[in-house]
Amino acid sequence: MNEPRTIVTNPAKLMDGRPLARRLLDGARAKVEAIRAATGVTPTLATVLVGDDRASAVYVRMKRRRCEEVGMKSVAVELPQGTTTDELVAEIRKLAADPTVHGILVQHPVPAPIDKRVAFEAIPIEKDVDGVTSATLGRVILGLPAFASCTPKGIMRLLAEYRVQLDGAYAVVIGRSPILGRPLASMLINAHATVTLCHSRTRSLPSIVRNADVVIAAVGHPRFVQGGWIKTGAVVVDAGYNEGNVGDVDFEGAYEPASLITPVPGGVGPMTIATLIDQTADAAALQLGVRLDALGAAGR
Ligand code: NAP
Repeated sequence: MNEPRTIVTNPAKLMDGRPLARRLLDGARAKVEAIRAATGVTPTLATVLVGDDRASAVYVRMKRRRCEEVGMKSVAVELPQGTTTDELVAEIRKLAADPTVHGILVQHPVPAPIDKRVAFEAIPIEKDVDGVTSATLGRVILGLPAFASCTPKGIMRLLAEYRVQLDGAYAVVIGRSPILGRPLASMLINAHATVTLCHSRTRSLPSIVRNADVVIAAVGHPRFVQGGWIKTGAVVVDAGYNEGNVGDVDFEGAYEPASLITPVPGGVGPMTIATLIDQTADAAALQLGVRLDALGAAGR
């Protein structure tokens, strides 16, 4: 594995997620205010954290903080290590039935032996603001309106912001998880890219990646995608987030051939949380019958 080296980056090459995420959060704040003005109700996100994984606790805290920053309420449900699937499902059902809760986020990974899929499926689609249910994924595949999984939706927004041409492009997604690689591949297909979805059994991965106009790494292995795999001029999106603020792409190696590349941190990560908050505001508006059209482009 290459050791990281310091490189001088050209800001024009970086797909910076922070300003776009900020705009999205500003828009969410406007939506929250409009909903409160129309109904007197404060949009509310319930976060469910099971067990004592430190990283998960940090992520949940960050999400709760972002909620409060835009004037939303967050309800924290914390369950001990050893919680069973049935107990978790019972908690989710309570939130599902609670009309003051508009979005439900179950922080994952959930500790074994909980059946994550069973827990996710207990979230009603209208409150599935993190896009984890099979019903949501089905809608995403078909290109129907949905609160899609936040990381892939955030990536699509980032690609649009930087005017990356997807129509006719060859995109390679590495990773096929139900919350990231799979929905992202569908979104790219719906944007008229030709997509290859790779995973741990894929043969000759480097030679597949070498042909890609757009490379998306969602693997979970630090600096997995090597600079030598990247075609000159390719757009590289690193969804990875590993210990030590390291992505799934060898940034230093990929920077030179890439025409655009996301930094880690500051690329995909901020877009994920901002998308979650934005979708929670939209979910509240839908459940409360508030039309947000009047907010215009800035609030959407
Ligand atoms: P995951 O569920 O563990 O899935 C990883 C995927 O990578 C699997 O499909 C796996 O293939 C594939 N893979 C593993 N080793 C591989 C190899 N040697 N060659 C090719 N493919 C390989 O992970 P995830 O939840 O999708 O997350 C992926 C990355 O995104 C992680 O770094 C995670 O931290 C990050 N992430 C970031 C955010 C954010 O907000 N920035 C949010 C979510 C996740 P198989 O299916 O064959 O096992």
